[in-house]
Amino acid sequence: LAEATASVTGLVGDRAGDWDRSGLLPAELLRKLGASGQLCTGVPTEYGGLGWDSRTGGEFTAHVGSLCSSLRSVMTSQGMAAWTVERLGSEAQRRDLLPRLTSGELAAVGFSETQAGSDLSGIDTRITVDGDTVVVDGHKVWMTAAHYADLLIVFGRLGDGGAAVVVPARAPGVHVRRVADPLGCRAAGHAEVRLDSVRLPADSVLGGEGLSLPLLVTTALAYGRMSVAWGCVGILRACLTATTRHASSRTQFGQPLAGHQLVAKHLADLFVAEQVASRACEHASHCWDNGSPDMVVATILAKHVSAGHAARGAASAVQVMASAGAQDGHPVARAYRDAKLMEIIEGSNEMCELMLAQHALTTVE
Ligand code: FAD
Repeated sequence: LAEATASVTGLVGDRAGDWDRSGLLPAELLRKLGASGQLCTGVPTEYGGLGWDSRTGGEFTAHVGSLCSSLRSVMTSQGMAAWTVERLGSEAQRRDLLPRLTSGELAAVGFSETQAGSDLSGIDTRITVDGDTVVVDGHKVWMTAAHYADLLIVFGRLGDGGAAVVVPARAPGVHVRRVADPLGCRAAGHAEVRLDSVRLPADSVLGGEGLSLPLLVTTALAYGRMSVAWGCVGILRACLTATTRHASSRTQFGQPLAGHQLVAKHLADLFVAEQVASRACEHASHCWDNGSPDMVVATILAKHVSAGHAARGAASAVQVMASAGAQDGHPVARAYRDAKLMEIIEGSNEMCELMLAQHALTTVE
């Protein structure tokens, strides 16, 4: 972990602000990290991956999130794609696809459609079996990393159930168009993807046909939530570093900003946020690493707690930095925009609250 952390720190350097402004991550950086297995650290070693547990991968994700949320978003997509293949794919599919995802090929995952956001039961993408091929028709929106991806994991309807299908991004009938000027994570390569009668070999469907669509989607989302949660811990750590440095070194009214109690309160709030989010993520990862039945709820809790704290914490960080952080590309300015989006994706605040309330209703006496 220490080696990977030092290596990615060196690779990112001080360029995250430039990537944010240009809206692009360098392709060679993504290929290099992909080929080292660091974009999806949980892939087992037998399939060419690093085989890291959730806690170790989480700490690495937090570190990348502290450097650049766009890069962390690409990691989340790659990890979610690999996890989907690992969980839903056949052994032959795992043996084919996972080594590709740990040797430089990039992937994105598509659930969302114009009429299917929070309510994924509205997914309308069709996967139709035609002899020894399948045909995919649909329109996905906001696929993180799709601009960079070689492979698209697309969720759709197959027969009476659902399925995930692996679509090469350059297959005939696939049209990828970038989301213009996203609010945050601007270099994460968000794109809409149209699939017009895309014909693929039948074995492109992961795990065969007829599985329940909600079950399939929940499997992939669980990984995404865990990854986003750790990414938010990284955002909070970056904000804490920037604000404590600034509040110690800048003087107003004859003393450092940190000497003013109202500013110190912001620092205390940020510290609490980082600690609470870290503990929630550590607990959830512990559940993953021990196969605990609490894993699903712990993951939703970690995502909800971390995203909320990151959004509020980043706003406090901008407040403490004031004009020093109020420019595009500054770490806290990026954090402010990036963190807000974390309250929307992989289950919005409201969706998480509904699921947590449901859990409370069924378990608390
Ligand atoms: P809506 O579902 O229209 O919701 C609008 C608001 O209403 C939200 O606040 C929501 O919480 C609230 N709401 C909806 N229903 C209820 C309810 N029953 N009770 C209470 N409140 C409710 N999708 C992918 O498939 N792959 C990706 O890689 C991906 N990456 C993304 C990256 C970013 C930066 C963003 C912004 C989105 C991404 N998405 C991706 C899409 C994302 O999953 C959806 O934006 C998200 O699920 C919310 O859907 P929506 O935007 O359509 O909002």
